Amino acid sequence: VAHDAVTGLSILGATGSIGTSTLDVVARHPGRFRVRALAAHRDVKGMARLCRQFRPELAVMADPAAAQALYRELNADLPGTRVEGGEAGLMQAAEVEGVDCVVAAIVGAAGLLPTLAAARQGRRILLANKEVLVMAGELFMAEARAHGAVVLPVDSEHNAIFQCLPDAYPARDLDSLGVRRLILTASGGPFRTRAPDTLVRVTPDEACAHPNWSMGRKISVDSATMMNKGLELIEACRLFSAEPRRVDVVIHPQSIVHSLVEYRDGSMLAQLGQPDMRIPIAHALGWPERLESGVAPLDLTAMGRLDFEQPDPQRFPCLQLAYDALEAGGDACAVLNAANEIAVQAFLDGRIGYTAITTVVAAVLERMNAGGASANSVEAIRAVDAEARTMAGQALREQVV
Ligand code: NAD
Ligand code: MG
Repeated sequence: VAHDAVTGLSILGATGSIGTSTLDVVARHPGRFRVRALAAHRDVKGMARLCRQFRPELAVMADPAAAQALYRELNADLPGTRVEGGEAGLMQAAEVEGVDCVVAAIVGAAGLLPTLAAARQGRRILLANKEVLVMAGELFMAEARAHGAVVLPVDSEHNAIFQCLPDAYPARDLDSLGVRRLILTASGGPFRTRAPDTLVRVTPDEACAHPNWSMGRKISVDSATMMNKGLELIEACRLFSAEPRRVDVVIHPQSIVHSLVEYRDGSMLAQLGQPDMRIPIAHALGWPERLESGVAPLDLTAMGRLDFEQPDPQRFPCLQLAYDALEAGGDACAVLNAANEIAVQAFLDGRIGYTAITTVVAAVLERMNAGGASANSVEAIRAVDAEARTMAGQALREQVV
């Protein structure tokens, strides 16, 4: 994308935490970006507000009733905005004309098809939706390569690693670049120091009260269990074609060092910044240039210190579940992701306790015993995903709230 041209954007998951942070950065650069499509699930009010501000040509609500409501809401004053609904609408948002760059910020497996569609169109993809890489990473990356789609990570850790890799990446692999390890930092979430025997009683609001980041509820719960770091471990392996043994996790409670790359000669490169997603978003929106993000610079002396510690496997068993799924290979990561989505939703709905999230995911992984080669079609991946969701439903019913 030439820097003097206007970049056409499509934002999938526009009303969410990443979507609105993206639009906050975009609004700081009038004339540089043109928002052509916005898509979300069913927040009609939020979507209507964004449509009035950014005037996209296409607005999509995945929920058909919400699409109708948005249509009624906008019709009179925004004749230039076409409203569509359902999965077909999401696909249109990924494929609409004049879009250079698709921001993949839907939460969960619902983002798979449109994100894959964007890859097949060869568009630049700003990838926040890590679940796509966990369930279908090999397929997605292969499609992106085949169609010349540049994938830029928005997840802060992966964006940090991308920033710490030389320009020769991805043309050359990690080994030939002298990379020894990728080190993902993790905050440890709200329960890093909480007495383990009190975890059974924590509420959804407590689990979502992240000490450093403000995010959607699903990823917030994942951060509390550290399943988020497990998903990110898989994400890193897929994005950077790294073997699992090359990726490590270290707890860093201040969330200032967003991740590191260790080189053969003993050098470690890190990316630092405030814990504000507008930094990785602005990096990916502007790449290879640098854009104003609206985030205040870091004051090193005010910060004083940075701490690092080993994650405790007893406290955070989800991290091991993710390593095991990665080792098992094949569909195990898709199973892990689906079971986790079901378990986290059940916890958020008050149907199971916090510690049951891990129990349910572990039970589904054990019963499905997936492994070996990965499914190499979307249909096969969707079938595994559906089966794991059914199994997770059964495992849920065995849990007591
Ligand atoms: P969120 O819950 O705030 O927003 C989710 C967005 O997805 C909303 O716009 C919602 O309308 C849309 N959506 C939900 N279900 C949908 C469906 N079935 N069809 C279409 N759209 C649907 O979540 P978030 O925190 O913005 O996270 C979005 C993604 O980015 C997740 O995959 C998350 O892991 C990842 N991510 C988020 C952060 C963060 O700081 N929030 C950081 C790194 C990665
Ligand atoms: Mg992250």
